[in-house]
Amino acid sequence: MILLNPGPVTLTPGVRDALAAEDLCHREPEFADLQAAIRSRLRAVYELDEGWAAVLLSGSGTAAVEAMISSLPGDDARLLIVENGVYGERMTKMAAIHGIAHETITLEWGAGIDTDVLAERLAERQFSHLALVHHETTTGRLNDLEAIGAVCAEYETPMLVDAVSSFGAEAIDFTSLPIVAVAATANKCLHGAPGAAFVIVQRSALAGGRSRCLYLDLATYCKKQDARSTPFTPAIPAFHALAQALAEHAEEGGWQARRTRYRRLARQVADGLAEHGIEAVMDADHSSCVLRAYRLPEGMSYDTLHDHLKADGFVIYAGQGGLAASIFRISTMGAIDTVDMDRLIAAIAHLVHN
Ligand SMILES: *Cc1c(COP(=O)(O)O)cnc(C)c1O
Repeated sequence: MILLNPGPVTLTPGVRDALAAEDLCHREPEFADLQAAIRSRLRAVYELDEGWAAVLLSGSGTAAVEAMISSLPGDDARLLIVENGVYGERMTKMAAIHGIAHETITLEWGAGIDTDVLAERLAERQFSHLALVHHETTTGRLNDLEAIGAVCAEYETPMLVDAVSSFGAEAIDFTSLPIVAVAATANKCLHGAPGAAFVIVQRSALAGGRSRCLYLDLATYCKKQDARSTPFTPAIPAFHALAQALAEHAEEGGWQARRTRYRRLARQVADGLAEHGIEAVMDADHSSCVLRAYRLPEGMSYDTLHDHLKADGFVIYAGQGGLAASIFRISTMGAIDTVDMDRLIAAIAHLVHN
């Protein structure tokens, strides 16, 4: 089966084999070595220095985002959260659940962020952090981290970034932008297996935070992991898979090579579908390299499209919320290639013309 949903992804044989690595106790030095290797490889993805810590968690991407949102704001924090899709809205829910003061910039799903509006809000100087989704997987919109980060820098507002579906494949300028933390997961652009997630955090930001959760407290994880330990039982098979996935990611040329490859596949699919009258929802300039949303063919329901493609060996992804009736999504992450995409386009063409 070829997975075209935005994670989990189709695994390489090497990563799949790593899932079946030898049984390991998380209180033995072999685990400590595995954990340390992953932590340093994660920092190496964006060539980060020792001022940054990669903190490993067991859970999905949402666990990493919630660890970041619940742990890093201090007692007097006030977040400004940008919402232009499901995942921005999810960060607002997290802030509310943890009793963190917050306001939002609420946009239509898929809309771009107006930096003048952002500047106006930040000029009020009452926000401790800006919380932002880098790639809003709801629509495929790649929010402009550079432009938004420049405004945050001007108003000295640290950024908390959900990069769950962009880490490892899109540019993230950790050093010039006022980023203090980025949350991500093993099983999207890094091509690992579900179960491992992580936050890359500026070490200096950990002390100013507050613990609002027992299980998702970043400072606790970081302290234990620095001491080659772990507070709880980790998802060890997913850790083995992530170590292997990171080795393959580096061998293949890092995030830049992955972006080139994703862009090529996304363009191939978009051009191929356009020939059969299926339009992308967003232009390529505003889309991530990872995923594109398309309008459903005239007169065809999502379920019909999905079920036929599944019978041909492809899993596509529905729109969320109000978009469910009008769009479908295709992500080109994972161990897939141009031949697979040719087959996908042919399968869709067959459906549309029959
Ligand atoms: C996938 C994703 C998440 C997390 O989803 P999980 O199902 O918890 O892995 C969070 N944010 C974005 C932008 C995502 O694409």
